[in-house]
Amino acid sequence: MEFRGLKAQYQNLKTEIDEAISRVCSEAAFISGTEVLELEKQLAAYVGVKHCITCGNGTDALVLSLMAWGIGMGDAVFVPDFTFFASGEAPAFLGATPVFVDVEKDTFNMSVNALEEAVIYTINNTNLKPKVIIAVDLFGQPADYPGIRKIADKYNLLVLEDAAQGFGGAIGNKMACSFGDISTTSFFPAKPLGCYGDGGAVFTDSDNWAELIRSLCVHGKGRSKYDNIRIGMNSRLDTIQAAILQVKLEAFKKYELERCNSIAKKYTEMFSNTYQVITPKINSGYYSSWAQYTVVCKNMEQRKQIMAGLKNNGIPSMVYYTKGMHEQDAFNDIIYGYHDYKNTQYLVSRVLSLPIHPYIEYKQIEIICDVILNISKKGK
Ligand SMILES: *Cc1c(COP(=O)(O)O)cnc(C)c1O
Repeated sequence: MEFRGLKAQYQNLKTEIDEAISRVCSEAAFISGTEVLELEKQLAAYVGVKHCITCGNGTDALVLSLMAWGIGMGDAVFVPDFTFFASGEAPAFLGATPVFVDVEKDTFNMSVNALEEAVIYTINNTNLKPKVIIAVDLFGQPADYPGIRKIADKYNLLVLEDAAQGFGGAIGNKMACSFGDISTTSFFPAKPLGCYGDGGAVFTDSDNWAELIRSLCVHGKGRSKYDNIRIGMNSRLDTIQAAILQVKLEAFKKYELERCNSIAKKYTEMFSNTYQVITPKINSGYYSSWAQYTVVCKNMEQRKQIMAGLKNNGIPSMVYYTKGMHEQDAFNDIIYGYHDYKNTQYLVSRVLSLPIHPYIEYKQIEIICDVILNISKKGK
């Protein structure tokens, strides 16, 4: 059984994807081919934002956004403690200080109360200048943007939406990748919309920031690549990846996203009233892209038993994530004092992500749930 269904997806889209790849090979415009600009327009239209700038990966997308804002030494950037490393790595890479913020136990996303506490702590106890909130749409559900925006306005902070896992999500009619002053996503193969290698994108309504990021991702170019007006980097989406993404975006819009939501619903129904694992909470009016379907086990022991039982039945499962950002050795030298991560600590020993993708059958979900329920009932 596949965890993310990339093989099944290729089999379903093979004709169009093979055609797209060979078309780019014949055209031989491997960098900045027409497909790249076309895709950017399609992505911007889907998300409902004025500008989309594609780049090398989701991590670069975060770094480019922070560079456009001039973030660096002495700046505090608020990042959820429970996320993939890159969310905190990007500000740290630029010399800024990530201040980690605890998350909500039920949605896994940044806690607005903990965010305000961390901002106040930073103002009162450090010399850092609070600048940016990086909100992460963890496992596909948009963060609490109405709440986060209030804190941002109150303390004059910018919001950077890390929607690496969130592409396709929404709050009401507003799509993920449109909630930040700048928003980013990743096209890493296993993300909701993935390509066949590394890729990423930045979204913004601001003409100025868009122009700056277009320059920053091509060596700080001015009028041309050989007229360099600032220090940038080399971070572009390959034409082949753009052509693949054009095919996959159509499938994503037509049925993949909806299908993942039906699969998630099936899981939640199967587990409801069993009192064995806690199913993920989607806030009312929120829509998830289901980058992961993550349950919360009773304790580490139950999680271990479930994982072993699944493995015996040929069913893959993963732990996202095994530790909080504040526990990562890479951040040992970043001393910011603020330290209250009880929900992250609760989650890292209990979360378990189960197979989910548009090509999995309901029957397989039933099998997975039966295995889990049999083990966890016996284990009590
Ligand atoms: C995957 C991911 C990234 C980084 O994306 P890459 O394309 O792998 O660089 C950043 N943030 C989050 C939350 C992610 O899940």
